Amino acid sequence: MIEIKKFAFTPILGWSSSRYDLFLICKRRYFYHYYTKYDQEVPTRKINQFKELVSIPLETGGIVHKVIEVLLTRLKTTSKDIDRKKFFDFSLRTTENNIRTRKFEEVVYGDMAEVEVDALYPKVRESLENLLASNRFDWLVNEAISNSDEWIIDPPGYGETRIGALKVYCKVDFLFPAGDEYHIIDWKTGKPDADKHRKQLIGYSTWASYHFETDPTKVKPKIVYLHPEYQEVQETFNVFDLENFAIQVRAETEEMYEYCRDIEQNIPLDKAEFPMVDDQRICAYCNFRGICYPNLYPANL
Ligand code: SF4
Repeated sequence: MIEIKKFAFTPILGWSSSRYDLFLICKRRYFYHYYTKYDQEVPTRKINQFKELVSIPLETGGIVHKVIEVLLTRLKTTSKDIDRKKFFDFSLRTTENNIRTRKFEEVVYGDMAEVEVDALYPKVRESLENLLASNRFDWLVNEAISNSDEWIIDPPGYGETRIGALKVYCKVDFLFPAGDEYHIIDWKTGKPDADKHRKQLIGYSTWASYHFETDPTKVKPKIVYLHPEYQEVQETFNVFDLENFAIQVRAETEEMYEYCRDIEQNIPLDKAEFPMVDDQRICAYCNFRGICYPNLYPANL
């Protein structure tokens, strides 16, 4: 049985691709997202309300992930064919439920009166149809299934790992061993982004090499684009790639440490040290625009 190593909690910040992306986009947004409780002006409750907003594309991806997780978990327990009608009924109900229970920024910021199921479900359905029709799914059902005890589906936690002494997060969606190789899949419903996704793939190799103490060339990380068509991107990395990645992660972590008053405890500098980005094209898509520009973006929360 393959096992994921566990780590004792430490407060120091951990690098992740999404954390560093946010840091690059806007320091104020990074502060609101990661250091909510340190804001001296805006109550934590209010920041959290903005932080929890979802967008239609983000939630569509979240629903597809959830349904695939249930599908793979079911595959582990039964080899019966999938009842497509029940499967798509389930995905429709999941979509309806999420629409009922989430707050959408499109509504809060007045772009839409409400979010209808048709705003999400066609893409959810097409993404799942593409998966079911793929050779990969066929292979999972007919070949990889024999090893399904070893599948790791949406592992708990945040994908914590280590590069030397550095804390790093690389969360995988699905891992399955085949022979002496480890296959990792990350499902995507959005557009391809070669640079960003390559960084994620190296991160998955780093994560698996650490946890399973294997040579990185034995790790086969894949990004699977589910929409508009099924497409897999796989890259294999060697120790030099991982060392190069480690240098990059170290440098990016150091940059983020500079915004900490206390690095070990991950206590940030004052909010004023986290400047707002000067680009309304970025702000127009930010959850927190109702805090930064309440007159320009009145929020109905
Ligand atoms: S609204 Fe603009 S300035 Fe404010 S946090 Fe978002 S991106 Fe940064």
